Amino acid sequence: TKCAQNGTFSEGELQRFGPIELNPSSGVLNYGQGLFEGLKAYRKDGGSILLFRPEENALRMMMGAERMCMPSPTVKQFVNAVKLTVLANKRWVPPTGKGSLYIRPLLMGSGAVLGLAPAPEYTFLIFVSPVGNYFKEGLAPINLIVENDFHRATPGGTGGIKTIGNYASVLKAQSIAKAKGYSDVLYLDSVSKKYLEEVSSCNVFVVKDKVISTPAIKGTILPGITRKSIIDVARSRGFQVEERLVSVDELLDADEVFCTGTAVVVSPVGSITYLGERVEYGNKVGVVSQQLYSALTSLQMGLSDDKMGWTVELD
Ligand code: PMP
Repeated sequence: TKCAQNGTFSEGELQRFGPIELNPSSGVLNYGQGLFEGLKAYRKDGGSILLFRPEENALRMMMGAERMCMPSPTVKQFVNAVKLTVLANKRWVPPTGKGSLYIRPLLMGSGAVLGLAPAPEYTFLIFVSPVGNYFKEGLAPINLIVENDFHRATPGGTGGIKTIGNYASVLKAQSIAKAKGYSDVLYLDSVSKKYLEEVSSCNVFVVKDKVISTPAIKGTILPGITRKSIIDVARSRGFQVEERLVSVDELLDADEVFCTGTAVVVSPVGSITYLGERVEYGNKVGVVSQQLYSALTSLQMGLSDDKMGWTVELD
């Protein structure tokens, strides 16, 4: 049974960044009816601007909208709005190799509701900001802690979509981990607590004997666009990639562990702490992580041939 609401989005307009008006009784403020996306624009050498697979973000937002009983912009509306916003903020796209322009589309129930129900009206907006590295470590290895008490998602819940509540639920675990000196939290499945899920804002990969494994998509983890792209890039480079249940025990004898996401790109993991035991992967970037990082970033920055047709050039 479908829940997505029909509805059309009227033509938008560019506005200076600043506070927006929101009904105190809006669906997003009261019942968390909100979704977001995250993508980046990179400056190609020579000046033009590249987006990376923006249609994938549009499709993921549509999928999320269905789960959240919201109407969503079409792929064309989404991508056009992204292009328009980026072009209007062109001067904020950093030079090649110096960062990127992070693009944050939001879709929210802006109409008023009192009793629990989907909102009667929706707002789609995009804001942008120049960004550097997500982790203060840069490309240096990050240190994760496996979370045993808190869960990010549960079967039947909303872990597979980019809804705002998923991020509210990880704030506490993430704050505790950061206060203890970890870069981020690695979540386990909430049923058996035996299998890896993902990190607060990225997907996880484990490398053993040149075989790359990553948790399969089954509704509780976000289908990352970087994850999907890295799987294709790795396969095209001859790696065997498996999408399956990855047991937490596999962390013990992994050669390398890395995370992927729009914000984190490919981040090598230097250590993982699980039930008080710390497993070290070395304080330098692993060879597989480095190879995949370079392959992906050179594509995103237009430094290598885009055989997959993943980049969208603006200008
Ligand atoms: N998992 C979560 C929970 C995330 O928030 C993100 C960031 N969107 C990812 C994974 C990675 O997804 P993507 O590669 O599409 O950025």
